[in-house]
Formats: sequence, structure tokens, C-alpha cells
Amino acid sequence: MEPFKIKAVEPIPFVSRAEREAALVEAGYNLFNIPSELITVDLLTDSGTSAMSDRQWAALMMGDESYAGSRNYFRFEQTVQQITGYKHVIPMHQGRVAENLLFSNCVRPGDHVPNNIHFDTTKANVEHNGGVAVDCVIDDAYDPTAEVAFKGNMDLDKLDQVLAKVGRERIPLVLLTITNNSGGGQPVSLDNAEQVSSWCRRHRIPFFYDACRFAENAYFCKMRSGLDEDIPTIARRFFDLADGCTMSAKKDGLVNMGGFVALNDQEMTEKVTNMLILIEGFPTYGGLAGRDLEAMAQGLEEVLDERYLAHRIGQVRDFGQGLCDAGVPILLPVGGHAVYLDARRFLPHIPQELFPAQALTCALYLEGGIRGVEIGGLMFGSAGKWPELELVRLAVPRRVYTKSHLDYVVATSKSLFEKRDSIHGLKITYEAPVLRHFTARLEPVN
Ligand SMILES: *Cc1c(COP(=O)(O)O)cnc(C)c1O
Repeated sequence: MEPFKIKAVEPIPFVSRAEREAALVEAGYNLFNIPSELITVDLLTDSGTSAMSDRQWAALMMGDESYAGSRNYFRFEQTVQQITGYKHVIPMHQGRVAENLLFSNCVRPGDHVPNNIHFDTTKANVEHNGGVAVDCVIDDAYDPTAEVAFKGNMDLDKLDQVLAKVGRERIPLVLLTITNNSGGGQPVSLDNAEQVSSWCRRHRIPFFYDACRFAENAYFCKMRSGLDEDIPTIARRFFDLADGCTMSAKKDGLVNMGGFVALNDQEMTEKVTNMLILIEGFPTYGGLAGRDLEAMAQGLEEVLDERYLAHRIGQVRDFGQGLCDAGVPILLPVGGHAVYLDARRFLPHIPQELFPAQALTCALYLEGGIRGVEIGGLMFGSAGKWPELELVRLAVPRRVYTKSHLDYVVATSKSLFEKRDSIHGLKITYEAPVLRHFTARLEPVN
């Protein structure tokens, strides 16, 4: 059961099918364009959508809004240092700023940046600096039915191949995303992180985590590798292997806005801090209010509670199990923060160039007012170059929905699956040059 009781509630919208149909047309068949007031169950993302605890709300009242040297910064700094062991902690308003500030100070045109799988903003920030984002995850990650315990693991042979191709001078850093969001929220094992770490040490290449879901990853390691240590100790064993991390605290920070870079290197800290002052703010607030830093510090402590994690990971697992039991094809095993519908198997009659995962995303909204997000050809493809997977991610916000909300999503998905032949593909009518999925407009193709 939930390891909490509910102290404040927010009514959810109920919208007629006719209203949903009109909303889809108005939105250009892109759910990013639909107002949240027209969404019944919003599984667009687990990012920034967490419910804060009573202690986090109380922390907001403890905000010290001094421009420099706010006491909230010091608590935040100490919390991050305790969790990660890294010396320098630089707050930012969200994860992509951490990526931007780190990469723009180390990635040069032509450089290659390996990762298990780059998240969309990570890939875009590497490319924005002229770099090449290379995904080096194990092959199993691309098989949506392979039930592998640590499907987020890096393939060391693929790292060797990047090294052989471009040489260590052209690899400014290696990233490891825990858990591997774009590959289905799949965990990375401690053994694998150790191997990546020693590979990086051997070749003298800096090693950073994209640590958005570090606590969920640590919980998976405890369960699947049978580790005896508590969650903070396991998380710390991961961080000890690397030189630093970028973090979107909108995930395992349990806040609605926030992020940071934490690292040991003094010179890189100075470079990042100098740019921070230019684009985010003074280093003791980094684009956030003092109160936000206090809530973030509190959230980072709460997320390491094993009872919380058992519920969190269990809720997502049961949601996935419900879909499996209903015969709906999903990516297996179920990851930490989301269940991914496998649109290739759900809609085998729609070819990839007609965006099956996007079509499924729209159909799910039309059927039940549910908002998921496409992770497939619209997000990652371009003419003649398509991603391996066509997924619809149903991300579960932390501490927000109960079992009956997710049961409703299972029932809706089941009835949609039964009439899947009636779903049509889509074509693009407008796209932006980068991160096109956020603003693209589409229309149905018969
Ligand atoms: C969310 C996320 C980011 C980017 O963070 P924002 O706070 O959305 O800017 C980067 N990497 C991963 C793995 C993420 O899940």
C-alpha cells in the first residue's frame, strides 16, 4: 500500500469524447499541444510532476531569499555532497541546463560522446556543441521482449569501437544514464558501472552519470543483485565510481523544478560556474529560489527511503502486469518510472514512416483522455533513418495517482487494443529543426 496518506487533493478533469476529438484536431495530433485541463490521467512525464510531501511544503516556508549565500544553498550542498560524495555542487533550474553547461565546456565539434542511450535533451545538447551522441547500450535493450535484469547496461565492446574509431582525444566524457530512460527506464548494474568506470580510468576519459533516477536504479540493484546494503550506500557506491553527474531533480529530487551538476574537478567547476552566472544566476541559487533549494534537499533525502521506493517501483510494476494480463504488448521487463506500450506490436499495420507510436498516443487520448508520450520515429527519426523502437511511454508521476487511476488506464488500453485495426497512421505537416516532437503538427493518413 501507499506509504503515505493524502493531505491535499486536486480534482481531475473529465472530458467528453467529442471534446477530445476536437482537442486532437486543434492540437495537430500532438499531445504536447493539449491543455492539461482536457486530460483525465496525465502520464506524459514523471518529470516535475511529483507530489511534494508535507515536509517539502513546510521547507518552502524556510526559504532564505538572499541573493548570495542563502542558508538553503548550504543545506542543499551538504545533502548532495552526502549522497554523491562529490566536492562541488552547482544548482540549476533543470537537467538540460546541467547538460548545456557541462557539454559546452568540454564537447568540441567532431567529438564523440558515448552513453548507454542519450535522453533527447542530452543528445540535442551534445549535437548543439557539434558533438556526436553515440548510444552504446547492450543489444538486448532493443529487443522489447528480452527479459534481462539490467537492460540499461553499457556494452563495453561498443565503447571500444568508438575509441578505435575516433581515439581518446575525441571522447571528452562518457555518460551513463541511471536508469536508462530512453531504453525503457531500465536499470544499470553496479558491476556494469564498475566496468565502465575502469574503462574510463584506463583511457583517462572523464566519467559522468546522467543521474535523474539514481535512487530508483539503486533500488533495482538491491532487488535484482541481492545487495545487502541500504539504498544510500548503494547509490554512493555508484557515485564513487565516477567524476561527477548531471541531475534533473524533477525526477528523483521529488520537486517540480530543479537540477544540478556535482563534480570533483576544480577547473571544470570554475568553467561551469562562470557560465552559470551568465545564463542562470549566482552559484548559490542557480536559477532557483532559496525555497526551491530547501524543498529539493528534502526531496533528495525522502527519495532514498526504501519503503517509498518499494511502493514506487511496485506501483509501476503492477501497472505493467495489469497491461500484460490484458494482452496489451509492452516493453519487458517493466522499468522504474514508466510502462512502455510497444506500438510495433500494437499496430503492426502502420508502417514506421506513418508514426505508429504517435498514432497510438493520440488514440489513447481519444479513447480515455489519457496522455502518454511518443518515443519513436517522431522523437528520434528523420527521413530514411528510423529508431529501433516505436514506444508510447506512460510515465507514472511520483506519489500522484492511486491504483484505481492506473486500473482505468489498463482498462482503456485493453478496449483500444481490441479495436486496434481502426487506428490510422499520421503524417507531419510542420516540424522544427531540433527536438521536433515538442512542437510538430500532424494529420491522419487513411
Ligand atoms: C529529464 C531528463 C533529462 C533532462 O532534464 P530536464 O529537467 O527535463 O531538463 C536528462 N536526462 C534524463 C535521463 C532525463 O530523464
